[in-house]
Amino acid sequence: MNDVLARLRAMQSADVPVTGGRTLAYVYDSGLEEADRVGREAVAAYAGSNGLDPTAFPSLMTMENELVGLTARLLDGPDSTVGTVTSGGTESVLLAVQGARDSRPDVERPRMVLPVTAHAAFHKAAHYFGVEAVTVDVDEQFRARPAAMAQAIDDRTVLVVASAPSYAHGVVDPVAEIAEAAARRGVRCHVDACIGGWVLPYAARLGRPVLPWTFAVEGVTSISVDLHKYAYAPKGTSILLHRTPALRRPQFFASARWPGYTMLNPTMQSTKSGGPLAGAWAVVNTIGDAGYLALTEKVLDGVDRLVAGISGIGALRVVVPPESTLVALATDGTCDVFTITDAMTRAGWYVQPQLSFESREPTIHLSLSAATADHVEEFLAALAKAVDAAVASGPIAIDPGVVEFVQSLDAALLSDEDFDGLLAAVGMAGGDGVGLPESMAEINSLLDLAAPALREALLAAFLDRLLRPARNTP
Ligand SMILES: *Cc1c(COP(=O)(O)O)cnc(C)c1O
Repeated sequence: MNDVLARLRAMQSADVPVTGGRTLAYVYDSGLEEADRVGREAVAAYAGSNGLDPTAFPSLMTMENELVGLTARLLDGPDSTVGTVTSGGTESVLLAVQGARDSRPDVERPRMVLPVTAHAAFHKAAHYFGVEAVTVDVDEQFRARPAAMAQAIDDRTVLVVASAPSYAHGVVDPVAEIAEAAARRGVRCHVDACIGGWVLPYAARLGRPVLPWTFAVEGVTSISVDLHKYAYAPKGTSILLHRTPALRRPQFFASARWPGYTMLNPTMQSTKSGGPLAGAWAVVNTIGDAGYLALTEKVLDGVDRLVAGISGIGALRVVVPPESTLVALATDGTCDVFTITDAMTRAGWYVQPQLSFESREPTIHLSLSAATADHVEEFLAALAKAVDAAVASGPIAIDPGVVEFVQSLDAALLSDEDFDGLLAAVGMAGGDGVGLPESMAEINSLLDLAAPALREALLAAFLDRLLRPARNTP
């Protein structure tokens, strides 16, 4: 048994660290050992419990109702507010879209209006539920344009979306104007606060300027907020709130059309581990309101120091002034963001490359955690070094013939053999099949040239080849 755990630990050493503050995407680290320990123990204690049936596991229902009540208070929910704990931001978004669609059975080909900066989870929802995504461009500051969004609403619109804030640039949309436009047309308005929902209320209490975005805004009908991001809970929990039980009702699925138990699910999963819910409940109660206020003060102070430090790195700039814990960085063209992100990985910092989109340049995404705030100066020193090296090696030059070739490819016409060849050509496949590439810079700069459909197809082909059963396990 110890041997198995030792093997687990050995495998895990290849992963990016989940504590220590050096991973600036995917993981969110409070830096509080006690909160982490309590969270892990709660997950373990409830790993075998099944959230399928609240009458069999009433403790899970108690925890869910407590978490939803606390979140509703945090987000200015009226007494009518209800909610559900889901497995993550994507599930919360999927359910918000599904509920909006099913609240309008009269609409034959439903649509939703999104700022182009809305999270990809909405495109996934569009794909899964047959709701057309109508995207509206944002302004130069990457903020949704409410007048353009209002104009995009039509008789088929079942949902209007705003972000608080957007993932890629950390910008809070003008929720008040967007929600008003939606309400005027009798359409639901979802605020995606998956990443910022646990930060912005505390930021406002600390006296930072925050645009109104919660249920205090009339017209906001639902909000998603992830506990596994800035509530610093273990992975696997998000909350979807609705202003009234009637708004939530279409989300519930019941089926008595078989001889077994009557299926009754508020979420996409049916059998679901009680672990994540118990872990979130334990962490939220350990850190507590005062704890979150202090963590927010700490991380936002870290963001301020980071932004000040970036101004001292000539080739880099902050794309928009951060409104929460998220920072997007761009270069002045003397080097590539993709070279910088690789150099940071080698230096032990994980930062996330974001490809160019439409007319917008590629950027580096940073999600700062409270634990990162202790290491901002160290981070800036590593970043300055990475940028110096990237400037010295210059922007990644891609042969004009290759550029033309990539831009001429039509993803829909490519065969499996074509993908094998392409993956090998861009270094995403070795002689003995596909492994994880050592360096990402060239791959990212080639993907950056490709249209979205080709990026999607190439990465799906890559994943298809990565996810193959292991045959020779010890
Ligand atoms: C992270 C995120 C999501 C998706 O959440 P997952 O937990 O990764 O499924 C949706 N919207 C925003 C704004 C996010 O930051």
